[in-house]
Amino acid sequence: MIKKVDHIGIAVKSLDAALPFYMGVLKLPLLKIEEVESQKVRVAFLQAGETKLELLEPISSESTITKFIEKRGEGIHHVALGVESIEERISEMQEQGIRMIDESPRLGAGGAQIAFMHPKSASGVLVELCEKKEMKG
Ligand code: ZN
Repeated sequence: MIKKVDHIGIAVKSLDAALPFYMGVLKLPLLKIEEVESQKVRVAFLQAGETKLELLEPISSESTITKFIEKRGEGIHHVALGVESIEERISEMQEQGIRMIDESPRLGAGGAQIAFMHPKSASGVLVELCEKKEMKG
């Protein structure tokens, strides 16, 4: 049911401060920068081979990313697994007793449908299920 690791989400204080490393040193191509109002973040997607890195910069003190950085500092925030038929996947998880933060999909960056699983169900890892509308990207 899991197709691949779609992307890894990394919490950063500032995209401007973080991008020179990812683009300049690692030479990862920048795919896009967009604001995701529902999560109060500005995100930058970088292509890293088959998968992507999603740098998340909070744009409000109410963003969960602000709280994450205050508590734990910058760093890996979540792992996103690419799936199809996300609503069915959520139901399957719930049938197996997995706690979902999002019990129905919501709109994420790039128009993807996303749903977060509770880290307690995944050995402390915040896992995002992610369904892309496009065939690629
Ligand atoms: Zn993500």
